Amino acid sequence: MKGVTPRSEDYSRWYTDVVQRAELADYSPVRGSMVIRPYGYALWENIQKALDGMFKETGHQNAYFPLLIPHSFIEKEAEHVEGFSPELAIVTHGGGKELDDPLVVRPTSETIINSMFAKWIKSYRDLPLLINQWANVVRWEMRTRLFLRTTEFLWQEGHTAHETEEEARDEARLMLEVYARFAEEWAATPVILGTKTEAEKFAGAVESFSIEAMMGDLKALQAGTSHYLGQNFARAFETRFLDRNNELQYPHQTSWGASTRLVGMTVMVHGDDQGLVLPPKLAPHQAVVVPIRDDDSVIEAAWGITGALHEGGIRTTMDDREGLTPGFKFNDWEMKGVPLRIEIGQRDLASGTAVLARRDSGTRTSVSLEGIAAAAADLLEDIQQSLFDKASAHMDEHTSYPSTFEELAEGVKEEGGFFHAAWCGSPDCEAQIQHHTQATIRNIPFDQPDELAPCVFCGAPGEHLVVLAKAY
Ligand SMILES: [Zn+2]
Repeated sequence: MKGVTPRSEDYSRWYTDVVQRAELADYSPVRGSMVIRPYGYALWENIQKALDGMFKETGHQNAYFPLLIPHSFIEKEAEHVEGFSPELAIVTHGGGKELDDPLVVRPTSETIINSMFAKWIKSYRDLPLLINQWANVVRWEMRTRLFLRTTEFLWQEGHTAHETEEEARDEARLMLEVYARFAEEWAATPVILGTKTEAEKFAGAVESFSIEAMMGDLKALQAGTSHYLGQNFARAFETRFLDRNNELQYPHQTSWGASTRLVGMTVMVHGDDQGLVLPPKLAPHQAVVVPIRDDDSVIEAAWGITGALHEGGIRTTMDDREGLTPGFKFNDWEMKGVPLRIEIGQRDLASGTAVLARRDSGTRTSVSLEGIAAAAADLLEDIQQSLFDKASAHMDEHTSYPSTFEELAEGVKEEGGFFHAAWCGSPDCEAQIQHHTQATIRNIPFDQPDELAPCVFCGAPGEHLVVLAKAY
């Protein structure tokens, strides 16, 4: 079987090779878009399940709004239309006739959802309104990078309305924490939580928050965003409610989203030169059983192990494909990132054991068939933790604290990674830093030190500690 381009040789080709050879996704005949293959979709479904569970635990309900939005809706919020205009796909004809009001294929659903909220929200008793939608969105792209940048992608978008600013701000922070919990506990990926700068915030928001993760090539990936929208959309759509004093008020709103980019993140954070490495909690198959000989007793024992693992709550597949060597099968499942491989041959069977091989470290241990489900469960837990520890160490190792602009520029150019530095808050300094280094302010971490150095660019008093990096 053909391997992948080594990461050290060409990271971008390595990524594309892994996504294609592990059968996560493929290029579609339509420029800018991708086809998610069954294995990639199974991974996305596990991401969905984890997030959906947390959304429901925090009181949200799922709903579905139409794909097509009247163009006039998008134009109602000035910053929103300005931000999204360049990437809109617009339907001008329908049923063979030119449309009076063209329709936009949703790039995000703030506007259509607000047109409905205006009907549904009449009194403070209708609040908070906590809605989530799982959907596809379209934002025109000329370059395709599977899972990272495509014209159409899958995501979820939360939309909520609240009586007070404080409640809405708390909601926006809470949902960012949900994303962070997902990244760390499920995707085994450490993230930095913080506020976006004015230049980087969502079009139409008062304030945007993000989680930022470090990829294997030391670039940052924005893995989830949450926005406090203020009353901007409520005013644009005349969404008003009677408050507790019987006065008409505009509700305060939030929106928050995470997408199939999370699949790309999982590939880039954990993958290696043998292919994917999946965190057990997200892996479509947590374990694969590979019989070493096509011998009836070995096959039977392999099925026995598969059954025992299933009963132990472990997602397990048995590779009984005929005519393929065990070596080929090992490579194939390594490419697909299955966390645990269980090998059983005649000699193992005779001694009542099987071999457990870890995808992350390659370590192989022989365990007794008696307690194999418990041993596998322990190892899976250990793998999940090890992946997180490794990713954390990687992020720490490639984080630096430049005190001068030269140090920052040199560091971005020579080594890459995350750079923590003080910033005066001026948009001009932010733009200059980006112009000279190609690094952007990823966010202003919630965790701020008591004292700050002068701005790394202009030397004026530092206002915020920021995280700078090149980003996807
Ligand atoms: Zn400055």
